[in-house]
Amino acid sequence: MSLNTNMSLDKTSHPGRPGLDEQVPSRYALQIGEIEVVVISDGVLALPTAMLAHNVDPAVRAAWLDDNFLPPDALDWALNVVVVKSGGQTILVDAGLGLDPDLNLPKAGQLIKRLEAAGIDLASVTDVVLTHMHMDHIGGLLVDGVKDRLRPDLRIHLAAAEVKFWEAPDFSHVSMPQGFPDALRSAAKRFMKEYRSHLRPFDEEYEVAPGVVAQRTGGHTPGHCVVRVASGGDRLTFAGDLVFTVGFEHPKWYNGFEHDPEEAARVRVRLLRELAGTSELLVATHLPFPSLGHVAVDGDHFRWVPTFWDY
Ligand SMILES: [Zn+2]
Repeated sequence: MSLNTNMSLDKTSHPGRPGLDEQVPSRYALQIGEIEVVVISDGVLALPTAMLAHNVDPAVRAAWLDDNFLPPDALDWALNVVVVKSGGQTILVDAGLGLDPDLNLPKAGQLIKRLEAAGIDLASVTDVVLTHMHMDHIGGLLVDGVKDRLRPDLRIHLAAAEVKFWEAPDFSHVSMPQGFPDALRSAAKRFMKEYRSHLRPFDEEYEVAPGVVAQRTGGHTPGHCVVRVASGGDRLTFAGDLVFTVGFEHPKWYNGFEHDPEEAARVRVRLLRELAGTSELLVATHLPFPSLGHVAVDGDHFRWVPTFWDY
């Protein structure tokens, strides 16, 4: 096997090579027609299990966790980022958590190192799409030294409604752990300050590259968007934070990070119904890595069917 620098399609680990000696897989590549997609793990984020459903009886929530062999108090959420290559462009979809020592989340913020391990140079990124401006989706761009390594003509696409929302964000319907609202507010503020000149806001929909379309959904945040990838009859949707592990079986359970949980539940049900109909692939930020799967309808709810890994 050659050791050239274009490792993006190379799924084999290389023990002993710098940066590639982790004992867990952190990247998974696949083709959607002509388009190359790589899921990269930013690590995991330990959060109280109450975040998964703050509108249900704690005993019901505890029973669900127990049924799924999950711990009762705190749960490691996966944190997935996607790199898409189409038409000569390299698009980073979301940017992971970065570093925030105040929140004590040491197992997240691995994106930059893992992009390098996957042979993806920050300077090769032409476009960034942000599903929304929560810190676990923008923080990687705020890590010291990262901006200097990005191209000066980098374009950052996000919904105009998201930019507007963060001018005066409403946290009255969320249920987040202490410290999070302040941390999210200040990360969004810092991000706007650092990257304002790079922003390319769109209203409802924007084709970032051939077959790669960002589409505003709202719900989780008013400007939340998903990314649709389609080529040669293959389709994949990156759903960002519209669906969490619990959301297939209980799509109407409110996630603590949803700024408008009622609308988030409506958007979730609509998207899951659609994906079940098209049989396309789903990737989502907080589903277990590499989070690739299909959506099935199961009676009055949904079922996540993870794909078999391809080697
Ligand atoms: Zn998130």
